Amino acid sequence: MLSRLSAWPPLLLLALAACTGPAPESSRQPSDRPDRGEPAAAACRDPVVLPQPDPDRPRYRLRITVRPEPGVVAGRLRVAFTPDLATDELVFRLWPNGPRQAGAGTRLEVGRVESEGRRLDARLTDPTTLEVDPGPRLGPGETIEVSLPWRLELPGPSFDRISSDGTSLRLGSFFPLLAWQPGAGWLRDPPSTSLAETSASQVADFDVSLRLPPGVEALATGREVSPGRWRARAVRDFALATGRFDTATATARAPEPVRVIVGVDRAVGESPEPYRNAAVRALESLAARYGPYPWPSFNLAITPGLAHAGIEYPSFVMQGEETLGIVTNHEVAHQWFYSLVGSNPAREPWLDEGLTTYAQSRIDSQIDLFASEPVPVPARNRLGAGMRYWDGHQDVYFQGVYAQGVKALAAVGPPDVIDCGLRRYVSANAYSIADSSDLIRALEAEAAGAGRILGRFGVRS
Ligand SMILES: [Zn+2]
Repeated sequence: MLSRLSAWPPLLLLALAACTGPAPESSRQPSDRPDRGEPAAAACRDPVVLPQPDPDRPRYRLRITVRPEPGVVAGRLRVAFTPDLATDELVFRLWPNGPRQAGAGTRLEVGRVESEGRRLDARLTDPTTLEVDPGPRLGPGETIEVSLPWRLELPGPSFDRISSDGTSLRLGSFFPLLAWQPGAGWLRDPPSTSLAETSASQVADFDVSLRLPPGVEALATGREVSPGRWRARAVRDFALATGRFDTATATARAPEPVRVIVGVDRAVGESPEPYRNAAVRALESLAARYGPYPWPSFNLAITPGLAHAGIEYPSFVMQGEETLGIVTNHEVAHQWFYSLVGSNPAREPWLDEGLTTYAQSRIDSQIDLFASEPVPVPARNRLGAGMRYWDGHQDVYFQGVYAQGVKALAAVGPPDVIDCGLRRYVSANAYSIADSSDLIRALEAEAAGAGRILGRFGVRS
């Protein structure tokens, strides 16, 4: 029913839990590397060779100070941006000002925008869109460095990607983010009126300095290279959670070593070890199917006030209470379908949620369960619809996008064949923003007629 923030209809959740309860904790040793679930996909014809990320990707430097005053996060952003097409403007998206979050009291403000000491004209064309005049037209391959201060007012406890509850903060999609799609230009899709997301951005490097109140810890995108200093390479966003955490760590082989850190906020009161084991299992299983997990870390924060739901960011996930089973698998699967291969969830949310639900279902043999989920009439054969449509049909969004996505792929071919097609899709589109024509091209190489079958479900190439 939700996009990045994935919640599940209670009846389906119960059915899934009945199918695949998590392995008993006692069966796993702390240093265990859990089994990989179902066997990996049958050998595909071509190995996965990930392309290199764009060498001209943006470089962000963020300074973030939590709670200089109650309920406020202050920051300063500096970004070096190099477009591949000529442009007369820069567009930052201020997602906290979307209608749902603004209604909860969240507010993101930006101060004076500068480049090399010179003030740049900047204006909000709508609450979530900041246009900046860079001065002379930027040519392809020309770099501009821009800096700006920002200030985020927090909403208090909120079932959303931005929330504050004492020292427990969720900060996702929380700072001004460039919305450039290489080869296409600026993305100006409107915010969703639901919990779903319409944000897309190119991969970038992040160097983040984080100041927290004494005794408060953080888990975030990337790696903490020194106290309060986080770095991430070739990721399309940066997010973090703060709190006081009980943690468990492990190294996954996906297939390169991935440092996994799971922190359970003490306000939640669950044990981190089962989550750590589930994350390792999902990372290893999915890497065997869809190609290597390309980052050196994966962090998972279990935070209060997000029961049965999760939200994915690159190499970092935030989940709520009681999300050990399908939610963990789902959010880890987003590391391939959203984080590594991006898509535009405003225009084709099924590429984000449908492919993720398919991949998640492969871990626990739930393809048939999702494929048999009835699709209500308003959602039927509208799989390719954009978020504007689904915002008007929120009651059938889950069945229409998550479950119908699995149903459509199951109609194209058996799981081993689809896995090979998805591997091909990852290999061809890693670090970029793909669309349905990219997916159909990859699937057709494994299953002729894939485009025609997906077309029957409403997917257009
Ligand atoms: Zn999802």
